Amino acid sequence: MTIAATVDRWEPNPHVIAKAGRIIRAGGLVAFPTETVYGLGADALNPEAVKRIYAAKGRPSDNPLILHAEDAKQAAELVEFNQAASKLAAKFWPGPLTFVLPSKNIVPSETRGGLDTAAVRVPNNPIALALIHKAKTPIAAPSANLSGKPSPTDAEAVLRDMNGRIDMIIDGGSVKFGIESTVIDLTDPDSPLMLRPGGLPREEIENTLGVKLGFPDDVKRKRSPGTHYRHYAPSLPVKIWHKGDLLPENSAYMGINRPDNLGDTPSILFASTEDYAHGLFAGFRKFENDNHEVDCIFVEWPEDSSGLSEGLRDRISRAAGII
Ligand code: AMP
Ligand code: MG
Repeated sequence: MTIAATVDRWEPNPHVIAKAGRIIRAGGLVAFPTETVYGLGADALNPEAVKRIYAAKGRPSDNPLILHAEDAKQAAELVEFNQAASKLAAKFWPGPLTFVLPSKNIVPSETRGGLDTAAVRVPNNPIALALIHKAKTPIAAPSANLSGKPSPTDAEAVLRDMNGRIDMIIDGGSVKFGIESTVIDLTDPDSPLMLRPGGLPREEIENTLGVKLGFPDDVKRKRSPGTHYRHYAPSLPVKIWHKGDLLPENSAYMGINRPDNLGDTPSILFASTEDYAHGLFAGFRKFENDNHEVDCIFVEWPEDSSGLSEGLRDRISRAAGII
């Protein structure tokens, strides 16, 4: 049985947080909201608890987890910080930015998928921060979905995949961003690398560091195994729509621009790139659950080059199976 408890995001009920903290300390699994997507949390320093995350998600054990800390001080107990990391942490934490840095021995090999680096961030959500504080340990948390499925952006989506597989879910309403954190490799502080675009735009990081983020070569990419697996995919095929294309019959559609022949096609139209990022995964889940006559989901390819569009293109490409 999975216990479900609803709390106010800004003033989370301390009894609920205390209970969730006890479950984490006892080696259990608790799903909770962050500002990016819902996470599936366990005590990051307890190898048995971390193994339960992989089992509940069906996640390959070489795909390392992000450690969520309550502040930069706690993060610095887990990994070797350098100047670039300190500068970015001071500016963007709590927030949707994850650093890969050399791991300290305290982090079990299970949490880092056997690598000698670990990924850390401080999430910007009062429920997540209260939970980490109460659990008195960093919390390892991938997205709270079955491996390969779209990430959950509300509690209902978490329960659809995880009911009965986890001990508790804290329902704190819909998340803010809807796509995961930006992951950068800072192991060589002079040449930082973009491992996964996400909630914090590339240009903000580059402006702060005064250098461009590189692309990982094949060796580095192998060292971020999560970037190989097919991801974020609903049970229906996902195809790309470009402005001006006609929509085939029996499709669903998501995007900012309206296809000329949209008619009464099941669709979600977004007002902005941010809105689109927020609604992408929820839209995938809605079409696969509601529309049995739909046999393909078309999604608009975002052409703009700033803000969340790089992260959005990454998620769309993976859902469509083109990277
Ligand atoms: P998820 O938890 O599913 O949002 O994915 C976490 C992402 O961070 C995956 O793409 C991982 O491959 C990446 N990641 C986590 N830890 C490391 C690490 N030590 N080195 C490189 N990439 C990592
Ligand atoms: Mg994930």
